[in-house]
Amino acid sequence: MSKQDSLQSVLNEACELVRKSARGKDRTIAVSPEVADMLSRVQRRTAPKSTPTFSRGRIPSDIQDLDALEQYVSSCDACPLAATRTRIVFGSGNPHAKLVFVGEAPGAEEDRQGKPFVGRAGQLLTDIIEKGMKLERSEVYICNVLKCRPPENRNPLSSEIEACEPYLIRQLEIMRPKAICALGTYAAQTLLKTTETIGRLRGRWHFYHGIPLRATYHPAYLLRNPADKRKTWDDVLEVLKVYNGEVTPSP
Ligand code: SF4
Repeated sequence: MSKQDSLQSVLNEACELVRKSARGKDRTIAVSPEVADMLSRVQRRTAPKSTPTFSRGRIPSDIQDLDALEQYVSSCDACPLAATRTRIVFGSGNPHAKLVFVGEAPGAEEDRQGKPFVGRAGQLLTDIIEKGMKLERSEVYICNVLKCRPPENRNPLSSEIEACEPYLIRQLEIMRPKAICALGTYAAQTLLKTTETIGRLRGRWHFYHGIPLRATYHPAYLLRNPADKRKTWDDVLEVLKVYNGEVTPSP
């Protein structure tokens, strides 16, 4: 019998003795403060240790890897986007990635292929990762806040974000990357629980459950506003320093 099982057994016997003593009386037992303290210490020592988690939400607790989570999400109908999607866009890349990029929502091409960032904006993100950071796209992980495409690529509704966010939370909880790069307003505001604009959020470190997070412009925005590519490159360079272990931002 393990030490913990022995303690649990002693505690059970003590409880049974207390129950027997209380039978037929007013169901209360007076114990000295020393005994009360000792019993509470035994209870604390025998209580199962809980694993720190970000959030459990409605996702079954036995889902502990990305494949199982993707399988679960593939039948999700928690918001009206389930009715208009072709397929979910869960995420792609290295499931053990040290760096995770989080965008907003799938577009038309992503919805068709079931992969994130495969259109023009996706090509720009690939260029940032491969030509700029000199990493393989397959080394990092890429996903979105929403797993289904909003019709006509409209902005996500707050009700949709609320319904879908548990999946993103669980993805990040499973991977626990070294750094997160939030792409655009919706990703940054969802992860940081803020209403600040991306212009104010970028350019400095934030923390998501202790994980360093850099917010920067979404590649789709950069296609329309190429003058801001320089700022995104500055953000990405800071992310790269953390990825390479050259810098460890502290909260
Ligand atoms: S967007 Fe998210 S919450 Fe809505 S149906 Fe798709 S997977 Fe479910």
